[in-house]
Amino acid sequence: MKKLEDLILTYKDFPKKGIFFKDVLEILQYPDIFQDLILKMSSNQILKNAEAIISIDARGFIFGSAVALKSSKPMIVARKPGKLPGNILTREYDLEYGKNSLSIQSSALKKFNSFVIVDDLLATGGTVNCVSRLLKDQRKEILGLITVVELNKLKGRSKLDFPVDSIISL
Ligand code: AMP
Repeated sequence: MKKLEDLILTYKDFPKKGIFFKDVLEILQYPDIFQDLILKMSSNQILKNAEAIISIDARGFIFGSAVALKSSKPMIVARKPGKLPGNILTREYDLEYGKNSLSIQSSALKKFNSFVIVDDLLATGGTVNCVSRLLKDQRKEILGLITVVELNKLKGRSKLDFPVDSIISL
């Protein structure tokens, strides 16, 4: 029988040479394993005290919305450029492979004071740190990050000043 670890596939040199890309999408083809993963992610105590979840474009949405549903928490999103209508707050950051920026709708952010961030994978921590800065600039509290995979070698958690719960460390 397959285990969660078996469903994290590695693609060498994607999307750039030298990157070992960890593909989490295979998990979705195994509903029992996906469900078990979401139960684990949703059982974290930090969620109890958070007013809302914020999930990150795009694979973070898959796991974030399932955790939001399971934990009965509202969810807002951080999206890549040009995707969100209305008043937005934007910040640029460095990726393991390039640059990017993320935006949050001000109207959504205004409604909640404390957040748990949900994403698929923590690599260098630049992405989560960007979301964290966006929230902190608006005086919001971040109670932690819940992620499916953490790439230990890249030491992403050292950039973050809140607890990190990763289900799989590689
Ligand atoms: P980082 O900002 O370096 O922590 O990267 C975080 C985001 O980029 C994750 O949410 C992933 O979607 C993606 N990412 C970065 N590195 C990898 C990798 N080696 N394999 C898969 N996804 C990655």
